[in-house]
Amino acid sequence: MHLAVEFFENSPCAQALLDIDGLVRSANRSFWTLTGGEDAAASEFHIQQALTRGAAMFYESQLVPTLLQRGKVEGISLELRLPSAQQIPVFANAVLHRGADGHPDGIFLTLFDATQRRLYEKELLRARKEAERLSEVVRRSSDAILRFGPDGTIQSWNEGAIRIFGWSSAEVLGRSISSLMDDGAATAMQDAMALLGSGTQVVRDFAGVRKDGSTLDLSVSLTPHLEAPGTLVAFSAIIRDVTLLKASERALLQNEKLASVGRMASSIAHEINNPLEAVTNLLYILQSHPLPAESLELVTMAQEELARVSQIATQTLRFYKQSSSRVPVDVETLVQSVLALYRSRFANAGITASSDCKRASPFRCFDGEIRQIIVNLVANAFDAMKSGGTLTIRCRDTILFSGSRPELRITIADTGTGMDSSTLRRLFEPFFTTKGIGGTGLGMWITQDLVNKNAGRVRVRSSVKPEKRGTVFVLTFPH
Ligand code: ADP
Ligand code: MG
Repeated sequence: MHLAVEFFENSPCAQALLDIDGLVRSANRSFWTLTGGEDAAASEFHIQQALTRGAAMFYESQLVPTLLQRGKVEGISLELRLPSAQQIPVFANAVLHRGADGHPDGIFLTLFDATQRRLYEKELLRARKEAERLSEVVRRSSDAILRFGPDGTIQSWNEGAIRIFGWSSAEVLGRSISSLMDDGAATAMQDAMALLGSGTQVVRDFAGVRKDGSTLDLSVSLTPHLEAPGTLVAFSAIIRDVTLLKASERALLQNEKLASVGRMASSIAHEINNPLEAVTNLLYILQSHPLPAESLELVTMAQEELARVSQIATQTLRFYKQSSSRVPVDVETLVQSVLALYRSRFANAGITASSDCKRASPFRCFDGEIRQIIVNLVANAFDAMKSGGTLTIRCRDTILFSGSRPELRITIADTGTGMDSSTLRRLFEPFFTTKGIGGTGLGMWITQDLVNKNAGRVRVRSSVKPEKRGTVFVLTFPH
């Protein structure tokens, strides 16, 4: 018994025996240390005196009645108020003591200092809030911020990813990262995974693919998550859609190229203009000299070709003077004059050219533009038929449905090499040429521009199959 008393007195827990009304009948050292009370063996001390006002009310109105009902309570939060006015959070456990007659006659009370625990809880709460805030940032980010398993399976998916790729998280979780990448990016992705495995961060551009199959440019930054002894347990990715950025970069580059070509072209045109004029004048003088008929014909041909040179100098790269108003152009005459320019070259290459433009009424346009369009298309047809073929040009007015405005339709068909699908796709791109140094890649680009300017449309059909090889351009313009 003596040991039990000693244990009570020296116990590391604050313990007290109270009357039902809260009077402390006996308490150990820890209790007095915690409550900051006197060793109140002499004076009367009620537990309520050690509590804040709220805690005292709670003690009387809740804790004691519950205790009387159940016989014990555990883990009740109370607030001590020390004589120094400092407040200390505590947990209380209490057991009801019954006398020999079975009536409750005392309370065994144990108090635990909860200051540390409170601090810990507060810290935990703060950390949780912080984590929530952070995950909110990740969740709502317009970039895709994702986590992958070491084998590349998608483990998390945020709103940015939904926006960029079009997959919902239910659809995509568990799939492989490769389902977000274009097939072409597969090997680059494998390289990246190998680097991640060795603990290296990877920042790279990939061609991505959306749910609907369309492709996009992605800027991807991959970070490995390693655990000792250097095993890859996961990796995270920040993925940004840079499609628009890339497109505008490309457009800028193209603009720069065009501007420099434009500058070069205009300076060349300027340089050759003077000698050109001189030669034109010389031929004119020569023409008025008495010459044998044969020589006169040669001079005329030279003049024709020279006209073409000045046309190229002033027109091909669109540095011709724009005629100030639309004029009615006789399409047949125009086509004839273009074919006449090519007559001798067609003959040399074994090309037969024919045209049928009788059923086309005069077309109101800027004179030079429609001519430019036809010259460009005929030039390409000529290039495509270096070993002979047939060129057919047909122009006519068409009426799509009764009451609609008539359109001028120009069809230019050649039996040349034709174009494969990759050429067709890039046909109208500036600087796209399959002719190496011999091509500028500007003809079709300019053509499309001029057609658009005249509210027209271009359609192309082309085949490289031997039995129906060739190309057909159909242009339509509203009259
Ligand atoms: P360039 O003639 O300087 O190459 P273009 O813009 O006029 O530039 O044409 C672009 C490319 O389109 C050509 O290099 C050629 O491959 C293709 N192309 C255009 N027209 C034809 C055609 N009638 N037949 C075959 N290929 C053509
Ligand atoms: Mg061309």
